[in-house]
Parts: sequence; structure tokens; C-alpha cells
Amino acid sequence: DVRVRFAPSPTGMFHVGGARSALFNWAVAKQQGGTFVLRVEDTDAARNKPEWVDGILNALAALGMHAEDPTFEGPYFQSQNVVKHREASARLYGAGRAYYCDCTREDVAARTGNAHSGYDGHCRDRGLTYEPGRALRFRTPDEGETQVVDLIRGNPTFPNSAMEDFVVARGDGSPVFLLANVVDDMDEGITHVIRGEEHLPNTPKQQLLWEALGAQPPRWAHLPVIVNEKRQKLSKRRDKVALEDYLAEGYLPEAMVNYLMLLGWAPGNDEEILPFDELVERFRIEDVNSASAFFDVKKLTAFNGEYIRAMDVGSFVSAVDPWLHAPKAPWTEEQYDAAAFGRVAPLAQSRVALLADITDNVDFLFLDEPVRDERSWAKAMKDGAAELLKDARAALADLGTWEAEPLKELVTAVGERHGLKLGKAQAPVRVAVTGRTIGLPLFESLEVLGRERTLARVDAALA
Ligand code: GLU
Repeated sequence: DVRVRFAPSPTGMFHVGGARSALFNWAVAKQQGGTFVLRVEDTDAARNKPEWVDGILNALAALGMHAEDPTFEGPYFQSQNVVKHREASARLYGAGRAYYCDCTREDVAARTGNAHSGYDGHCRDRGLTYEPGRALRFRTPDEGETQVVDLIRGNPTFPNSAMEDFVVARGDGSPVFLLANVVDDMDEGITHVIRGEEHLPNTPKQQLLWEALGAQPPRWAHLPVIVNEKRQKLSKRRDKVALEDYLAEGYLPEAMVNYLMLLGWAPGNDEEILPFDELVERFRIEDVNSASAFFDVKKLTAFNGEYIRAMDVGSFVSAVDPWLHAPKAPWTEEQYDAAAFGRVAPLAQSRVALLADITDNVDFLFLDEPVRDERSWAKAMKDGAAELLKDARAALADLGTWEAEPLKELVTAVGERHGLKLGKAQAPVRVAVTGRTIGLPLFESLEVLGRERTLARVDAALA
């Protein structure tokens, strides 16, 4: 039975890289009829906060990985397994696979003449017993090599002579992360460890621990790093990495999931936008690329636009609802007009790539005065635009039926009189009425806005 796990440390906002790891594990579990274990690695009490745990659970649930799903097991908490971690370190010591060491870093540097050298094995055969301050070190083999089965990286081998005798428990007796992580994986019956490439250097050491503890090591898969447009590893200081931030801006969870699944993997046939079930069916961990994956926000945004356009209008209206009201909306509840919004919703749906973009597209309907971006106004109002607007003003006042089609004919005709094509002729009208140079189709917008408000805005622009 395939058992995979996602093992985040709750030390901050939930990172898109973590979301990608979780999804790849989830996809493997789903397609194999296996189990996805969530284990919170919360042993670093100084850096962990309970609210980050909630953040992880909520973010996973938003992406469809939640405890009600039969594939999901947990969450388990590493901090609740410390007894087993200690038992494991005692076993390693008892079996002679680990020894106590009282060397300081300075001692080692003085002996090796190199402050950065690994541990030199000084205490290997001194037979020290535990005393506070003495670390427990794993005795790595001197010869041979450790090969790990990595489903992505072609089974790398690590010469054992290059592996120092690493610490498994600190001077206060507490097991280190490397050991706790292995013990928990063993305890939870994990068969495949699918995690970020940054853990690859730990893997031969951890494989040795599995073997020393008498268990069959798992298969490993180290996912490629995720980089920004400068090919730098995505970092929370430099880049927007919190999944919560993307969701708050109006990226749809389905679009995020689809995009994240493509970070290091492709479904083939040049297809990219696919329902999750189909991605799961096609996903092969062996097909994941080891080269770094570019987190392309523009592409993610384009995906999001596609997902928005694929919604039915009702779902779209519900999805944008938070942006139509305070605090996200720049208009008040009195200014908001649900019926007017309903009329333009399909037009807006076909234009926005982010749910948050909705406000700029429809604010002209609700604000008493259009926004005034000076550059847009300056650009649209030059070269005879005022003459054209005056002309349009008179025609608009006389227009028989206030509907998109006659409005378009009217502006076309006015434009012709000024020697302008429709595209140029409508620009000053658009800026006068909406404040912006781009936006929803103009004539439908005017229709919904109504004659009175349209004329008032043209007057204000001409004043
Ligand atoms: N807690 C580790 C991390 O957040 C995960 C280690 C692993 O997946 O084995 O990076």
C-alpha cells in the first residue's frame, strides 16, 4: 500500500512550494489508491506557532486536501512522538551504531586545521557514556557507498567516506530533526518520501538510519526547486510565496492547483489546463523533471483568467462577492447596485484575470464620480477630443433609445464627422465616463450607467 506524507514545519505562512509538494504527494496517493499522511513537524518549539498550523490546514483544505477525504490521514504532530524518537536514539547507541561525543567545534577545528571540516571521528572508540552536553553521533560506514532510490533523479549514490559521523541527538539528549523525521516516517509506514530537493543532502544519512533501525528504506523523490524570473530560488523575503496571499488576491484555488501541478511536471500533448482528476490520472512521479521550475506569475494569472471564464455566471458573481463590498470595494453599500452589477457581470467575467480586478472594471457604475487618473485623462483629452465630446454630448442628449447598439452608431457617426475611426472616437468618451482608458465594452457600459449619469460625466469632463 502506497503511503506518502506531507511534513511541513509550521514556521511561517504556507509557501507555494509546500503546496506543490503536498499536491504531488496527494496526486500519488489518489492515483495509487494510497494514503496521504499529514505530519506537522513542530519540534522546534521556538519557531513554531499554533496559528501557522491552522494556516497549513486551511490552505491544504482550500486546495482540496482535507481531513474528510478518505485519502487523508492525520494530522499527526512530531512533538507527540518524542518518546519514540528517544527510543530510536537509545537503540542506535545500544547497537553500537552511535556513540557519545564531547568534542566542541573548536576541538575539531584545532585537530583538522579547518573550521569547516566535518567531524573527524575522534570519539568513535572512546566508549563515552551519556552525560549532559555529550551529543550522540551516528557511526557512518567508512567504505562503500549509499545508493538511494530516487524516482526523479536516477538513484544517486553517495560515497560513505564523504559522510561524517553526524549528530542524531543533542547534548541535552533531544533527537535532531534528521532522526525524528525518519522515526516518524517509519512509524507512519511511509513508502515514498516525496519532498523538496533541499533535503537531498539529508537523504543518504536518513537512509542509513532506516537501515540501522532495521527497516526497509522508502523510495525517495526530490522535487525540483522553484525559481523566480531571475532564476533565483523563490524566497519569502524576495518573492510573493504565501499561498494565502494568492488566494486573497483572487486566484482561484482550482487555478492554483492546476498551475502548481505543472511546476516540474507536464501532462503531455501540450495540454496544460485540465481538471484535477485528469491531472491525477496522468501524473507520474517518475516523469517529474529534475531541472528547476519557474514560478511564472504571468502564466498563473493567465490560467486564472481561463478558470474564471469557464465558470457559470452565478458562480462568478458569488466568487467576486467579497470584492463588491467593504472593505475590499472602494464604494459604499449605498452606492452599490446589485442589479447593475448583474447586467455587466458577464462582460466583466470575460475580462478579468484576477477576481480582485473586478473593482477597477465596475467602479464607474457605483462611485459618484469616475476615478481620475491624470495620465489617462491627459492622453485621452488631447487633440480635439473636447470638440468631439461636445458633439457627442449633444447627440447623446437626443438619442432615442438608450441601448448599446444605437449608442455605438452614435459614437461612430460623431467620430466620422471628426475624421476618427470608432476606436479613437470612443476613447475620450470612455475616459469621461469611466475615468479609465481601458475597461468593459463601452456601449454596454453606457447603457447600464444610464443617460443622466453619462451626460453629467461628459459635462464634468468638459467643464
Ligand atoms: N519538515 C520538513 C520541511 O518543512 C520536511 C522534511 C521532509 O519532507 O522530509 O522542510
